[in-house]
Amino acid sequence: MRPDQPPTSLNHLFADHSRHWSGNLYVYPVISRRSGGLSIGINLNPDKACNFDCVYCQVDRSVPPAVRKVDLDRLSQELDQMIQLAVDGELFAGGPLATTPHSHRSIRDIAFSGDGEPTASPVFLEAVELAAGLRGRHNLDDVKLRVITDAAYLNRPRVRKALAILDANNGEIWAKLDAGTDERFRLINRANMPLQTILDNICDAARVRPVVIQSLWMRIHGQAPPATEIDAFADRLKTILDQGGRFSLIQIYTVARQTAEQYVSPLPDGELNTIADRVRARIAAPVAVFGG
Ligand code: SF4
Repeated sequence: MRPDQPPTSLNHLFADHSRHWSGNLYVYPVISRRSGGLSIGINLNPDKACNFDCVYCQVDRSVPPAVRKVDLDRLSQELDQMIQLAVDGELFAGGPLATTPHSHRSIRDIAFSGDGEPTASPVFLEAVELAAGLRGRHNLDDVKLRVITDAAYLNRPRVRKALAILDANNGEIWAKLDAGTDERFRLINRANMPLQTILDNICDAARVRPVVIQSLWMRIHGQAPPATEIDAFADRLKTILDQGGRFSLIQIYTVARQTAEQYVSPLPDGELNTIADRVRARIAAPVAVFGG
């Protein structure tokens, strides 16, 4: 077994990325393969709106949202309570997380990762401030404060301000990049902006602190991604490195759940490893595969 593969007994936990917990509206616990343990998620997009329209999106938009806006007082209360439940171990006393092995019960991160793009939320900055405050109050010095983002708005002043707070709180940006050409960007992410905007934003952020790239690869209508596209993806990353950007990790992964489009299907581990090797051959940055 490769080090980045979980024991098989954990797969049912990794597969459950439900954003619902008890009566909570915004805060949910996930046993995360890529975080390596308990990730406390914050959903700042309860309306399920997103600026991207990824073909592989795994947000269930067939169920109408329970609320549309974020109530920061409620968010703070839910996060405080969730941290306390995790620290006390009560989170694992029963229910869906009861089978979590002790090795995966510690809090690895507090992650802004919702049913849409967290940085698009009008209260992203305020939510980061309150999460940083609670992280400090609970003495969670080792816990990362993460934002999982499509990078479209990283250049906005209020988002930059929020990123500076992340930086001061063991923060990390996980930026999505699934394509190396405009053609594939339009095919996969279906966003109404050029790929270059995303690349510029990632480059700016990666010049300030190392950034994690999360890159999802899949079959489209049964077709694996062409080698030219993988090379173009790696070359885009190389350009950012050449411009002074830094990457702490390039994550290569695939779909794990129901996708927005039926013509999307996962890649087997062997093909993910081939993609990773191809990227490694072109750039000097760590690359890890998170298989299905
Ligand atoms: S950016 Fe995320 S939430 Fe938005 S459409 Fe893509 S996968 Fe879905």
